[in-house]
Amino acid sequence: MNTRSKKENIQLYECPECQLHYKEKEWMNKCEAWCKEHHSCNLEIIAHAIENEKEKR
Ligand SMILES: [Zn+2]
Repeated sequence: MNTRSKKENIQLYECPECQLHYKEKEWMNKCEAWCKEHHSCNLEIIAHAIENEKEKR
């Protein structure tokens, strides 16, 4: 498993389908399962991606 995090040593999990990153492996698994099945993103799931968390500040 490779991590491309540049900041700190936080372990991130990347969804292989949509390339969003999660701090929780559980969310990555949910995202991957959803992406594979629906070929689209579930807003409730991707809200947990770090890409979307950043906007909250
Ligand atoms: Zn995904």
